[in-house]
Amino acid sequence: MQQGILIVLSGPSGTGKGTICKELLRSMPELHYSVSATTRPARTGEIKGVSYHFVSLESFQQMLSQDALLEWAQVYGQYYGTPRQYVDEKLQNGQDVVLEIDVQGAMKIKEKFPQGVFIFIVPPSLAELSVRINKRGSDTPDAIAKRLGCAKTELSLAGSYNYVIMNDEVAKAVNKIRSIVTAEKCRTVRNQDILDKICND
Ligand code: 5GP
Repeated sequence: MQQGILIVLSGPSGTGKGTICKELLRSMPELHYSVSATTRPARTGEIKGVSYHFVSLESFQQMLSQDALLEWAQVYGQYYGTPRQYVDEKLQNGQDVVLEIDVQGAMKIKEKFPQGVFIFIVPPSLAELSVRINKRGSDTPDAIAKRLGCAKTELSLAGSYNYVIMNDEVAKAVNKIRSIVTAEKCRTVRNQDILDKICND
């Protein structure tokens, strides 16, 4: 069976990649979202096991020692990681998986899954990013400054991704990602089984 596609979405904090990811999954229900594990506390409105698997530092370290994470990273002082089993199972079943992870994690995934689809979401400008982070109201001025500083570093890594999507309008950005997924599914390398079948009929 043809393996599923691993789709990795990254981008600076505040770019709106969470919203884009949610809309993408709503409009393409055949995609499967990998729920990350994190040591950070849940924010208002976040749901255990849906937004994240919220775990203690000890549990996270245990996952690491059991090699249960495909990748992990420390982001803004908290740990985040992608549970290995879910991703492996879905891909082996031919199902497509979406990861919404930071650039450090994405680069680790790229080493393990060079055939993955790496999409970088950017804000229209750094000024607009600053406005969006301030609007969220969930960060202290110190944390906001840190996030903006990190955004510049993250943007410098965009060249390692296959695609760049500007989030000036969520619907437009989602449509572009839908097109990417559709095109990626039609790649010759992913359809060798179809070609073989036709040729052997
Ligand atoms: P937040 O705390 O705002 O939900 O996420 C902070 C950052 O961690 C975001 O850039 C998000 O994409 C990233 N992140 C979420 N889950 C994972 C994960 O499993 N691995 C890595 N490396 N980053 C993650």
